[in-house]
Amino acid sequence: MENIFNKQKLEQLNSLISSANSVAVISHANPDGDAVGSSLAWSRFLSSAYPTKKVLAIVPNHYPAFLNWVDPMGEVAVFADTCDSSSEFLANADLIFIIDFNQTARLEKMSDAMQRNTSAKRVLIDHHIAPPQYELSFWATESCSTAFIVYNMIVKMVGTEALTKSIAEALYLGIMTDTGCFSYSHLTPELFRAVAVLVESGADPVFINRQVFNTQSQDRARLVGYLLSEKMNVISAKGAAYITLTSEEKLRFNHQIGDTEGVVNMPMTINGVCFSAMLIQTKDCIKLSLRSQGDLDVNIIAEQYFNGGGHRNAAGGKFFGTMEQAVAQIEKVIEQL
Ligand code: 5GP
Ligand code: MN
Repeated sequence: MENIFNKQKLEQLNSLISSANSVAVISHANPDGDAVGSSLAWSRFLSSAYPTKKVLAIVPNHYPAFLNWVDPMGEVAVFADTCDSSSEFLANADLIFIIDFNQTARLEKMSDAMQRNTSAKRVLIDHHIAPPQYELSFWATESCSTAFIVYNMIVKMVGTEALTKSIAEALYLGIMTDTGCFSYSHLTPELFRAVAVLVESGADPVFINRQVFNTQSQDRARLVGYLLSEKMNVISAKGAAYITLTSEEKLRFNHQIGDTEGVVNMPMTINGVCFSAMLIQTKDCIKLSLRSQGDLDVNIIAEQYFNGGGHRNAAGGKFFGTMEQAVAQIEKVIEQL
């Protein structure tokens, strides 16, 4: 991963930022801890290192309430609520950072506003498979998170002294959530050294863990119990499981944004289960989350069957049809495992 931060690229980055007036930092719809953490850390860094620039982080729609603590001042603009002002900012931006996503479609209703600006330079900071080409890219699929790439960029551009408490917290959030609390792949010694620096810089692991995982509502706790007890289908012969959630059930359990976060991982804790899918009905489609262990590549499955993508062991996508049709599709996929 070191090779993505060579001197020439860092100089090019510095010169792109220096010659810009307005800098947009944008991330994907249904923003998760890495999207929000990386966007906040990078925009906070840019604002302090380049104080004359106008910098704005924008996400297409709301992030879950368990991330509110990291953005107490509402620094991240939510496009769905600020459509006019965010569109105007995007239209006038001369530099756009593309954070933690590899397909423009992941901007959903914000795609047009971004694409209409054809003159802004674009810089990618991401760890997903197969992103498009941009002016400049800081891209490493071997990075556990986008936050770890942002960490390296800040440290290589300025040094660890640039890591204020609020930047360190945001980076720790991205790393902690995208590694499943330091339990997935890409857990290198360099990552743990970086995490030590983030803790030295003021990130409190106990506080952050509690904010993210121990602040759920009673409704959410009961929804999770219901999904595992009533809605999980385990196909033991294939080492697979899937869970479905309909719009009617969402209403019944007072479902809020973020309530299903992490549920797709739960079947993976069953001995022998190496593939898990979560199918959630939304207004427009059935949203899928896929997880696997080892060599089983869910990125390919998401791409082939569900208009999506992601990583080898964690991917997502969309199915346009009824829940019954989506279930038939996932059962077909499982049959072929
Ligand atoms: P999750 O299942 O947690 O929503 O997402 C898992 C991974 O798949 C993340 O890296 C996310 O960026 C990616 N992903 C989720 N949904 C989509 C989608 O609709 N399209 C694409 N290309 N990637 C997705
Ligand atoms: Mn990520």
